[in-house]
Amino acid sequence: MPPDVLANLRVTPAYPLRWIVVGKLLDAANHRVLTNAHLIYNSSNILYVGNEQPTAAVTGGRLTPDLILADFTALPGLIEGHSHTFLEGAELAAEKRGIYQKQDPATLYQLAAARLQVLARLGIIAMRDGGDKDGVGLRLSRDTVPDRCPAFTARVFSPGAGIHRLGRYGGFFSTPVEDHLSIESCVQARVAEGADHIKIVPTGIINFAKGAVTAKPQFEVGEIQQFRQAAHANRRHLMAHASGEIGVGHAIDGGVDTLEHGFFISSDQLAKMRDKDIAWVPTFTPVQEQVDHSDIMGWDAPTLDHLRRILDNHARSLQQALALGVTVLVGSDSGSCGVAHGTGLLYEMELLEMAGMPTLDILCQATRGNSLRLIGGDHFGSLEAGFRPRFILTATDPLASVRNLQHERLVVFDGAAESSATVSLANL
Ligand SMILES: [Zn+2]
Repeated sequence: MPPDVLANLRVTPAYPLRWIVVGKLLDAANHRVLTNAHLIYNSSNILYVGNEQPTAAVTGGRLTPDLILADFTALPGLIEGHSHTFLEGAELAAEKRGIYQKQDPATLYQLAAARLQVLARLGIIAMRDGGDKDGVGLRLSRDTVPDRCPAFTARVFSPGAGIHRLGRYGGFFSTPVEDHLSIESCVQARVAEGADHIKIVPTGIINFAKGAVTAKPQFEVGEIQQFRQAAHANRRHLMAHASGEIGVGHAIDGGVDTLEHGFFISSDQLAKMRDKDIAWVPTFTPVQEQVDHSDIMGWDAPTLDHLRRILDNHARSLQQALALGVTVLVGSDSGSCGVAHGTGLLYEMELLEMAGMPTLDILCQATRGNSLRLIGGDHFGSLEAGFRPRFILTATDPLASVRNLQHERLVVFDGAAESSATVSLANL
């Protein structure tokens, strides 16, 4: 990439606003693509987006743009819909993962904070965390508020620790509801600690060797309803990890706001989700990683067959969900085994595309869709006036395939600009 392109994208004291024209621009709010669009921004806001020649009032009296990028597509920065920000995802070895997690919270925080700077340069501008019990996410949530953090720091929204049943699955990122006198006081405590949303763990995970979720659900419908009530009373959304038809049913009937994973979901349950406006974050990546690395993971042929069948069924469920009109959001479960932060989100988008989700839908949901449903919706994930100027410019058209996002991107982040090609993908 010629260095003068980056230089002309940067907001500086001499150039307090930048004006570019791009060949294509993803207008995710309106689910459409603009051609030959103007985009004007300063260091904190997008000032103008549109096809019409901007007025002198918007351009500061200037008559010509800084750059005309006829071969480029502009799209909003991506939002990771489900991450465990405190973990290093790419590592597959259980022993090394265990050692990493045993580090003290201050070290885990520093490692995660450094990672956020890489993610921003890759074009991932915000993440909705799925929980950690070391306070890393809560501290990152406080420390990544725009204008109060270093340039190129992805914004984190955290639930604090997830909430699980004592002795059941989830202990590495959750603390038990039994630590509190009631569900309501448990939620109150999370909110008091600074949680942006509430994360519960109504089920265990898939037993890969058996090809099923074999443990019984952790929470009953009535309990999940209490979580919902308490979360909503505090204006927080309720994020629920659930797989297996029985546990997924509890989560849906309990009225969660977002269903995470949802393996083994039935078509009747998908129809209920649409009717109750529950969004689905299908997280294909963690299971696909088990298939991709089955040799390292030591899976035998029958287990590998289970994994492939589970993924095929999940793809069919995705198609049903889209046909029914269920809101599908984009999250990779990055930080979980084998799922690197940043590249994991790009892989999830690719897997959604391969499973039949239209490319434009994926791009809109990974930006505006995730923003609206997961992180409040008014600052990130859209190219429209008043939003933060955090966006991607790419010469390989992501509207042809999301795979094209794997190539070099230029990332504008609050008036700074860098190439994704300059960052190391180690330790993600
Ligand atoms: Zn998760």
